[in-house]
Amino acid sequence: MVKLALLGATGSVGSSTIEVVKEQNEHFVITLASAHRNWYNLCQIAGELSIPKVVLTGIEDTAQQAFIRNQYPNLKIYFGINDLLNLLQEEDYNLALNAISGSAGLRSSFAIVQRGKNLALANKESLVMAGHLLMPLIKSQGIKILPVDSEHSAIFQLLEGHPHKEIRKIYITASGGALRDVPLDELENITLERALQHPNWSMGTKVTLDSATMFNKALEVMEAHWLFDLDFEQIDCVLQPQSVVHSLVEFIDGAIFAQLSQPDMKLPILYALSYPERLPSKLVQTDLKHLGNLEFSPIPTERYPLFILGLQVAYAGGILPTVLNSANEAALRLFQAGKIRYADIYKICQEAVQNCINEPEPSLEQILTVNEQVCQRILRQYNFGDIQ
Ligand code: NDP
Ligand code: MG
Repeated sequence: MVKLALLGATGSVGSSTIEVVKEQNEHFVITLASAHRNWYNLCQIAGELSIPKVVLTGIEDTAQQAFIRNQYPNLKIYFGINDLLNLLQEEDYNLALNAISGSAGLRSSFAIVQRGKNLALANKESLVMAGHLLMPLIKSQGIKILPVDSEHSAIFQLLEGHPHKEIRKIYITASGGALRDVPLDELENITLERALQHPNWSMGTKVTLDSATMFNKALEVMEAHWLFDLDFEQIDCVLQPQSVVHSLVEFIDGAIFAQLSQPDMKLPILYALSYPERLPSKLVQTDLKHLGNLEFSPIPTERYPLFILGLQVAYAGGILPTVLNSANEAALRLFQAGKIRYADIYKICQEAVQNCINEPEPSLEQILTVNEQVCQRILRQYNFGDIQ
């Protein structure tokens, strides 16, 4: 029985993970779960799955904490990021799935790896910001990092049994996001509602908006660089509007392998949990005969300037990915609050990168500090409060 710590249990990946654990309850049990503020949902999940301990990282008001504890007297409820980090150091679990969204997930990834536990990673931002620290630590700890992001899970599955030297390149597929068919001259003033209408995937708000700008694909290029130890020249992106081909690997002899299924996160989640085995599951069914066409085409880069900026930053490395990721997180908050227009997301990110003097090998402390500073500076510029 695998004992699982599930961080971000109330989110999109978290909910899919709950469904997987429910189906596979003879293999997996959740011993610890976290959310940020969504206490009711988290406590309901804990009741349903008999999870003994939960952490709410974003509720600071002690009266509210007491109220919540009062509602669920049989559940051990902890509050704050420090409690989460402590529990990750002390609790009994074999594997942790980090499905916290954004840079807020970084410290938890480190706590899990420092403890020497296997890490199933949905939180791509951990690798984007600190891959140069996290990957060597994973190696020295002798533990596994199991990709949950669908593209990286596909590549991970395709590479099984193949030595690194056999890889020529990989292709990360991209759906094109919510705005791929919107006329270019309408992009400037696109609404939040429109930017959230992803054609194929149902995901959390941040990753859906990052798909609309294609920043998500730049993050995924960085994620793949660290996960699979590939040069950026070996990582290509291709538009695959149906989101059925989750990614491809081209081997040195020219053979290209692809992994296919209906777009559903339950499949990569199950593989990350069951690795190196495959478990029988009815959760994801793909009717190949009725899939229709599978198309591939180059990314129309004029539509996605943030993708190009992301790639430039990926090549530069150092602290720049943290700066760009933080600027993007701040810009998305402003966009969601109606403070800026869609086109300003890119402008804010570009300005943050231009104003940065790169630091080639930042420490974890430097990364956390810069991440906070960049975000707060941008929010202050728009008179937007410090909302965690
Ligand atoms: P959601 O926004 O749906 O969920 C985020 C989860 O993290 C929630 O449980 C939320 O709690 C918690 N959370 C939010 N803010 C904080 C914080 N500051 N500190 C601690 N916990 C926090 O996100 P997704 O599930 O969509 O994405 C999670 C991660 O997985 C992201 O890194 C994303 O890029 C990646 N990913 C997601 C995919 C998807 O299909 N959704 C696909 C591939 C990767 P609360 O509910 O209380 O706010
Ligand atoms: Mg992805």
